[in-house]
Amino acid sequence: MDPQAIETIQPAPRSDSRPALLENQDRCILCGSSRLQPFYVHRYTQWIRSLAPGLHCRWAMCLGCGLLIQTPRVSEPWMRRVYAEQYRPTAPNPSYLHGKILDAEDKLTWLQSSIGAAGASRTVLDIGCAEGSLLDVFRKRHWTVEGIEPTAVFAAWGRQTYGVPITQGEFTSEAMDNRSFDLVILSHVLEHAYDPFALLRVAAQHISPAGHLLIEVPDMEQPGGNGIAGWLSIDHLWGFSFETLARCLRQAGLPIVRIERCQTPRCAAIRALCSGSAAADESAARSPSDGIAYYYRRLRRRYRRQRVTHFFRVGWKDAVISTIRVVVPPHVAEGVVERLRQGYRRLTRRTHRTRTE
Ligand SMILES: [Zn+2]
Repeated sequence: MDPQAIETIQPAPRSDSRPALLENQDRCILCGSSRLQPFYVHRYTQWIRSLAPGLHCRWAMCLGCGLLIQTPRVSEPWMRRVYAEQYRPTAPNPSYLHGKILDAEDKLTWLQSSIGAAGASRTVLDIGCAEGSLLDVFRKRHWTVEGIEPTAVFAAWGRQTYGVPITQGEFTSEAMDNRSFDLVILSHVLEHAYDPFALLRVAAQHISPAGHLLIEVPDMEQPGGNGIAGWLSIDHLWGFSFETLARCLRQAGLPIVRIERCQTPRCAAIRALCSGSAAADESAARSPSDGIAYYYRRLRRRYRRQRVTHFFRVGWKDAVISTIRVVVPPHVAEGVVERLRQGYRRLTRRTHRTRTE
């Protein structure tokens, strides 16, 4: 056992009325177990450094059901500030957009193969729609689209560039005026929610009687490529596997029409389609499997193997930036770091163009 993985950080003591930066998550939201085993410490998260230098992102696994849980985690009031000030601060870049458009087309094809004619030309609400590429793709196939997105820059960019209706703000029942949609999408959103069950409950309220809910989350069992950085970031509070996502949906009372692991154009994910009619499912309360300890060891080995890959793909940049900040005078360092970032972005765009030509 990595001794640093066992070390835990206590939430910062409150010296005034400000909310604490960190809070512990002591229980599993799925099975209620408090048997949380330290799983992985992610050391390359720049966001958490900007909030509190020296902190790393720490993950545990619930030994009752296998859910990955970030603990301690940044408390909700602080995370709201991160979303408002640091999350998606600039307009989306071309390679990101290219991936998002391919991903939206992939989702639409998957949806139509799942529900046939019912998956064509209807109304869709995309919760956490980011820049709205999915809405644009669906609208071109004659869907009536609508999105809601908390980050101001991306919401405005989507409205101006694609001309799709995106409400900027948090998703609440009030924001949607009790309207219902044939399809509600939660793509890479559930793992950000402080209360995933509350989010699913509110989302389900906006599905029309014959409608569906499409959910996609990162597949935590496939931390390939850039997966460690993308999957174990501070904004992801839960890490789902196929089994834990299915359990979560059953516990939320959402009948599962189809659920599968998939390799989307952007990442390895788990995609599920639920019908809107709520039905309590007793099987959700079944006892956890006996093999969690073995599962824990197996998955942990997989993440450790990815450490090396991750360093060569992403971590070296962080190491170079840290070194510059140490050896270059502070008033020069930020300029050097920014020029380096711009150069790297140009390089990745050129590589991307070469690959797609
Ligand atoms: Zn659990």
